[in-house]
This record gives sequence, C-alpha cells and structure tokens, in this order.
Amino acid sequence: MFDNLSDRLGNVFDRLRGRGALNEADVREAMREIRVALLEADVALPVARRFIDAVTEKAIGQDVLRSVTPGQQVVKIVHDELVEMLGGAAEDGGSAQAEGLNLNARPPVVVMMVGLQGSGKTTTTAKLAKYIREKHGKKALMASLDVARPAAQEQLAVLGTQVDVATLPILQGQQPVDIARRALESARLQNIDVLLLDTAGRLHVDQALMEEMKAVAGVSAPTEVLLVVDALTGQDAVNVAQSFSGEVPLTGVILTRMDGDARGGAALSMRHVTGKPIKFAGTGEKLDALEAFHPGRVADRILG
Ligand code: GDP
Repeated sequence: MFDNLSDRLGNVFDRLRGRGALNEADVREAMREIRVALLEADVALPVARRFIDAVTEKAIGQDVLRSVTPGQQVVKIVHDELVEMLGGAAEDGGSAQAEGLNLNARPPVVVMMVGLQGSGKTTTTAKLAKYIREKHGKKALMASLDVARPAAQEQLAVLGTQVDVATLPILQGQQPVDIARRALESARLQNIDVLLLDTAGRLHVDQALMEEMKAVAGVSAPTEVLLVVDALTGQDAVNVAQSFSGEVPLTGVILTRMDGDARGGAALSMRHVTGKPIKFAGTGEKLDALEAFHPGRVADRILG
C-alpha cells in the first residue's frame, strides 16, 4: 500500500530539495504533480483539493520561499498536512487517545461494530476483543447480531474460542434488538467490562440496514460505534463511510486489509469524509493482525 504514491511524492520532493531557490510558480507546479499523485492513489477529490490548498497557502504565504532551504520547508509542510489529513497529531498513538478506544465509561461499555458484509467486520470484532483483553486487561463478551447471514453467529463463536473471549450463547429465531438486550443483560450479570456487538452487514448500504443499526444503538447506548471498511475498495469505501456517517453516530473507523496492495486513497480520505478518527488498521487474516492507527507513522511511511 502507498508504494506508488510514495514514489511519486519522492520524485517531486527530490526536485524541490535539489533547488537552491523556489518561486511561487515552482510551488504551484509541484502541487499540481502532488494533486495528480493523490488522485491516482484514489484519494477523494474534495480531500485532495483541500490538502493542496492548505499546503499551497502555507508554502507561499509565509517566509518559506525567502528561506535558505525552501524545498526542505515545503516538504515539511506536506508532511505536516499529511499527518493532519490522517487525523492529526492529537489522534496519534502517543497521545491520551492512544489506544483509540474510550473504555472508561461505566461497564459494560458497549462497542458496536458496523459495516458492509465482507468488510472484515466479524474478524475485526474478534481481533478487537483480543486486543482489549490483552492490551487493556479488560473482560470482554462478544455477541453477533447478524441473523441475516447463515452461520454468522457460529463464525463469531468459533473466533471467540480462538481469541479466548466469551460469546453470547446463540438462541435461534431472536431478532437483532432482542439479542442486543440479552447481551447487555448477560454482560451485567457476568461483570463484563466491554461488550462487543457484531452487527449484521449487507452487500450494499440500504435503509433497512440503517434502521436496524439505529434500533440496536437505541437499546445498547454504545460508547463506541466503529465502522469497519475494506481499504482495498478505494472510492467505494469512502462512499460507504459517507452513507454510514450520515445515519449512525460513528465514533471511529477501522480500515481492514491495509496489508493489501490498495492504492491507499481510502485511508487518506476517511478522516475527512467521516470527520471521525481512524482508530485501527487490520493488517492480515491472523487474529493478532490489528494495529492502533498512528497518523504520524503512516505519513512517515508514505513520505519514505
Ligand atoms: P464480514 O462479512 O464483514 O464479517 O467479514 P469477515 O470478518 O468474515 O472477513 C472476510 C474475510 O476477510 C475473511 O477471510 C478474513 O480473514 C479477511 N480479513 C479480515 N480482515 C482482514 C485484514 O485486515 N487483512 C486481510 N488480508 N484479510 C482480512
């Protein structure tokens, strides 16, 4: 991921750094190239535009061009703006928001996982439960509310055994809202710290799905509502995020398949499109392949 974008930006930067002096036209030319590179990496158009405007304003508006190392300074502005685009320093792993999750509410804290079918939602629920158990030392319970896809509930139960986190016993015929209520009740009785609700997916965003998400959120009062999106789906991922964020009160995003060779645009657009932080990245099929998302580190990787 990001390889092509990295190469393209690297070329622009080499040229900028290689020159002793820069004028406004040089900066504008470099920005045109960066804009094309971002769009080719599948970054959403408004996001690319905003990025370029911000960098251009900073690069030509201050004393950058009159400085001794103008190229170097423009590169730094691009870096800082890239970190901003990915969520900013405040959302970086080193800060108070560190592990990205707000788990300090009164238990059981409810974490609701939403997303389309195939996005990696069920796997990510299990990965996150493992993460919460191991990294936060909290007692977790998982419940699948997916009554639409055959064997979805069994899939979560199997994953639960693998990550050593309990799952709510399956009762056939129960509807999602009732399962959510039963899960909450069970979590209270067992002194569970964190209850993860794996909601149903669909192949496409539809109104019935949104109504179901709202009803589940209504009965479970989640502290976190995390949208799971597949980074490999590029612009589609951005559209999915837009649809969900208009309907359910998201608190964050988890990007899966960041180990794939996607062009990376989804990752770069998500923060701006949803207005919510990217909290984790899925980096493989194994159940420990989940990493806290660090805007600074990702920006460093892109800029090489
Ligand atoms: P759901 O329909 O959204 O619940 O999707 P699943 O959790 O069943 O995942 C679908 C497939 O994607 C499974 O084969 C997972 O192992 C795989 N998967 C999930 N997350 C990742 C990831 O971060 N990287 C890779 N390579 N595969 C993933």
